[in-house]
Amino acid sequence: MAKRKIAIIGVGKIAVDQHLPVIDASSDFELAATVSTRGVGHNGKPVFKTPGALYAAMPDVSLVSICTPPGIRHQYVREALDAGKDVMLEKPPTTTISELDDLVAHGKKTGRVLYQTWHSQFNPAVDRTKDILAAEGVASARIDWRESVRKWHPGQDWVWEVGGFGVCDPGINALSIFTKVMPFPVFVEASKLTFPANRQTPVDVEITFKSGEAHKPKLSAGFNWLEESGEIWTIRFETGKGNVILLEGGGRSLTVNGELVIKHGDGEYAAMYERFARLLDRHESDVDAAPLRLMSDVFLMGARVNGPDFEW
Ligand code: NAP
Repeated sequence: MAKRKIAIIGVGKIAVDQHLPVIDASSDFELAATVSTRGVGHNGKPVFKTPGALYAAMPDVSLVSICTPPGIRHQYVREALDAGKDVMLEKPPTTTISELDDLVAHGKKTGRVLYQTWHSQFNPAVDRTKDILAAEGVASARIDWRESVRKWHPGQDWVWEVGGFGVCDPGINALSIFTKVMPFPVFVEASKLTFPANRQTPVDVEITFKSGEAHKPKLSAGFNWLEESGEIWTIRFETGKGNVILLEGGGRSLTVNGELVIKHGDGEYAAMYERFARLLDRHESDVDAAPLRLMSDVFLMGARVNGPDFEW
């Protein structure tokens, strides 16, 4: 079968680090063009300043993958659906739940495939954790998600603007694992958001969760964006049978009671594009609002604390 032609919209860090190399290596997709406000191209393919210019010039390109910041994604996805495109989009999908609901409805109305991704969910260690927790239950869970904003979002001022999520931009990756693996619903009980006094989004967040479960499991999370010692992307569970499950490396490694069970490399984006191809085969959409819903509640339930100014 011929490869499907796809265009990338927004050629920033994640497009360059992951989307473009994965498409280059894909047996399902081939890059047709990029849309870049700064005019960034790839492998000599056509570059357009706006999605509208792409849609007018290359009507045969029926797929787009949107890699912009979340604040402008609702508008871009709607425009793509209206132009008859099937759409894949980066996380977090939108800045608000109501925007995401609207995109789901608009996808149905236009009859297009809408594939809303959470890359951290694409790890075999995460799937195995889900199975273990389904069988054994959860007595406690602790999420620690600490990284350097200077390393992972160098110079990106949008992360500090309203709707930019701040440290909840990586933190939502943890919640995308958490909502996938937990065998019962969880809710935000309280959160404390520390904002640099000169910025609009938090640099540090501490959350306690509750559930409707009678055994009252202890559930909490901490996100921090000033960790310069390397990434700490860890979730530790104690199961109902007393086993200790450690998911590390953002979901790439699973240890049970100190013994390594699974450790694998970075195949998240390749697996995501493979899933997109299968969704297109079946003409099916896939949207999971749970991580964004929980993160919205973190902000709704958040006590604000002012911390030191942040400068790059
Ligand atoms: P980025 O480096 O700032 O890239 C975003 C790109 O979107 C910009 O370079 C720009 O590309 C385009 N763009 C269009 N309109 C824009 C606007 N109004 N403001 C800013 N950029 C605009 O950001 P990123 O790190 O790639 O993140 C993009 C999305 O990917 C975010 O939702 C993020 O959560 C997600 N993500 C990021 C990482 C990571 O490691 N950084 C990992 C996984 C997922 P053009 O100049 O080409 O138009």
